[in-house]
Amino acid sequence: MLDVNTIRKDFPVLSKQVYGKPLIWMDSAATSQKPRAVIQTLVDYYEGFNANVHRGVHALSTESTAKFEQARAKVAKFINAKSVESIIWTRNTTESINLVARTWAEINIQEGDEIVLSPMEHHSNLVPWQRIAREKKASLRFLEMKPNGTLDLTNIDTVFSSKTKLLTITHESNSIGTINPVAQLIEKARSVGAKILLDGAQSVPHMPVDVGQLDCDFLAFSGHKMLGPTGIGVLYAKSEILEDMEPLFMGGEMVLEVTYDAASWNDLPMKFEAGTPNIADAIALGTAIDYLDDIGMKNIREHEINMTNYALEKFSALNDIQVFGPLSPELRGGIISFHTPDVHPHDLGTILDREGIAIRTGHHCTMPLVRSLGVAATARASFYLYNSTDEIDILVEALEQAVRYFKDGAR
Ligand code: PMP
Repeated sequence: MLDVNTIRKDFPVLSKQVYGKPLIWMDSAATSQKPRAVIQTLVDYYEGFNANVHRGVHALSTESTAKFEQARAKVAKFINAKSVESIIWTRNTTESINLVARTWAEINIQEGDEIVLSPMEHHSNLVPWQRIAREKKASLRFLEMKPNGTLDLTNIDTVFSSKTKLLTITHESNSIGTINPVAQLIEKARSVGAKILLDGAQSVPHMPVDVGQLDCDFLAFSGHKMLGPTGIGVLYAKSEILEDMEPLFMGGEMVLEVTYDAASWNDLPMKFEAGTPNIADAIALGTAIDYLDDIGMKNIREHEINMTNYALEKFSALNDIQVFGPLSPELRGGIISFHTPDVHPHDLGTILDREGIAIRTGHHCTMPLVRSLGVAATARASFYLYNSTDEIDILVEALEQAVRYFKDGAR
């Protein structure tokens, strides 16, 4: 059991009042709040040892380089990557996926090839592949989804074939919370010789993710959803694949030898990190990982299962609210997307905001999925280690009131 009250004290913004009400942050799927230690790391960097990395012989550069590389090592350990060379700093999940699309896929996807995805991909794991498919005359194949928002793997053998070159799939849906059976899908993709990219934007912050055990080829995730700052993300890739990939950006840091006519590439991971990297935010992501490690990812997952269980039970007692995604908390993360026929999600978001409750409304960058649910938008409450069941009670009460108000108003 997490000690939520103690954890909350580490997050300065959680003591904020919004419209005179205590802030209830239920938008962690969009971005998480940051503990004081992460904020302090940014201050310490700029006040104490701000210097460019890998370049200077002076004391400050030595210190910033050491801390920057320590952060990379923390990321590698956190996801159980075999080597630190497999960890490439990017800005976010979106950039990590685009990097794979513009480098690995440029060479390895050919005319007639197929890329397998789920119907619940975030736009950042859909649109880059639409472009690759168009440019390469390849095609996208979508897995099927059951009405409960889980994947239907009955016809999986008709989706994967020798034409499949890549399975690129979200580990956990940001929109309806489904946790996909990635181990089974990875096994299937391997059996046809395809490479595997996991979008870990929602899984890495919320549950143990072990790339050694999963045996995926690529994993993309964002620092800002896991207590870290914005502007820092990660691409994990097997080092033998990175060795064969061409860099995306050209410039300083990523080169070994340069003449007026040509250049050779630096070793991994620098080959993919042209220019001055996001030093402070990478180091602060290392602090976020320390924080998560201290609490324990298994404990965080357990807490979120308990929260989801509690919320689903409370929601089921409400009339006029439809919850999307699987109803078993084991099959989903702490993300609850719902629809109220009598209140437009944006109105609901505004009413809840007045109660201090921050939820997200809209298509959550999964437009095709939300449309397939038969709605234009959903309301989404998402939980993290700092949320409590008391907050769910307040959410449910505010929801009940809003629905009653709109229904009575409509009469
Ligand atoms: N994939 C998923 C599943 C996400 O939830 C998000 C963020 N909502 C992204 C990709 C994109 O992440 P970012 O905006 O940090 O690049």
